[in-house]
Amino acid sequence: MKGKTHIKDLSKKGYDIIIIGGGPAGLTAGLYASRSRLNTLLIERALIGGQIVTTDKVENYPGFEEGISGPELVRHMEAQAKRFGLEIISGRVVSAEDNGDSKSVRLEDGNEYTCKAIIVASGAEPAKLEVEGEDKYRGRGVSYCATCDGAFFKNLKIAVVGGGDSAIEEALFLTKFGSEVYVIHRRNELRATKVLQERLFANPKIKVVWDSVVEKIEGDDFIKGILLKNVKTQEKNLLNVDGIFIYVGTRPNTEFLPNNIKLNEKGYIITDDNMAASVPGIFAAGDIRAKLLKQVSTAVGDGATAAFAAERYIEAIAKK
Ligand code: NAP
Repeated sequence: MKGKTHIKDLSKKGYDIIIIGGGPAGLTAGLYASRSRLNTLLIERALIGGQIVTTDKVENYPGFEEGISGPELVRHMEAQAKRFGLEIISGRVVSAEDNGDSKSVRLEDGNEYTCKAIIVASGAEPAKLEVEGEDKYRGRGVSYCATCDGAFFKNLKIAVVGGGDSAIEEALFLTKFGSEVYVIHRRNELRATKVLQERLFANPKIKVVWDSVVEKIEGDDFIKGILLKNVKTQEKNLLNVDGIFIYVGTRPNTEFLPNNIKLNEKGYIITDDNMAASVPGIFAAGDIRAKLLKQVSTAVGDGATAAFAAERYIEAIAKK
């Protein structure tokens, strides 16, 4: 087919498209690019699947009436993309460089790959609370992943910090293990989806502590409690808990990007409707992108659009 000749002139370790990140956005971009017979490499630094692998049940991804577990959903996505030839390697990207029509991506192990277009789908990771005791007790009562660590807190008291979808979804999940689950929220209104709020308020194991922030995490070998401050009354209280799960938002994984990529004030990549970032040939998809709704269903749409737009871009530079 005309316009597809670009796949023949590859240099060693050269690709048409390199996708950075193997969550739903990256895997979908990989599926679409591979089906377009573009020579595509996906690089993932940790587990394939991204943040969704830490989710016990995904209920709002269409097509699964009873919901589906995060790991199972991405297992299908990975297998589907590989069936069409997507190459996946593991490695940490330390830099992505823009040299005009050619781009390069360097990994921590020293390997370097070149390509014509990059799709950044590196997602986000949990933000920290930045309070005393958070680092000291990480893994000893402080966690950012209920699916990974919840079972250690059987019949124990648990605090969950945050009022978004993640905090409420995970607080509900943690009631399977904990004797009591306290949701600590800094306002008197939750940000989470209404259906999650309804389940939260109906759950007898959950108590919401409103208008409160964590000032300090205390303990000896393991955590024993958290010091809370009511932001309205300034009153302080020590809440005895054995574990604290922190869900106070996310921060973008953009440290490897060239510094001429435009980011918003929170550090997420600004794109146009076709997922093109401010540098020609660099696209962004999924949670790394500045956008309203961060879900698997929007990530896969981003990934498909980014791959299609990258294909168009590669065809255009081949005709130059
Ligand atoms: P989020 O929506 O940004 O919510 C973060 C929560 O933490 C907010 O309630 C915020 O309070 C609170 N917070 C932020 N900084 C804090 C601090 N320093 N101290 C105390 N509280 C703090 O983050 P998220 O829940 O991780 O979700 C991220 C994205 O993924 C969202 O778009 C979300 O919809 C999506 N997501 C979707 C699902 C789902 O569809 N099932 C599940 C998980 C996540 P304020 O409300 O006062 O700002």
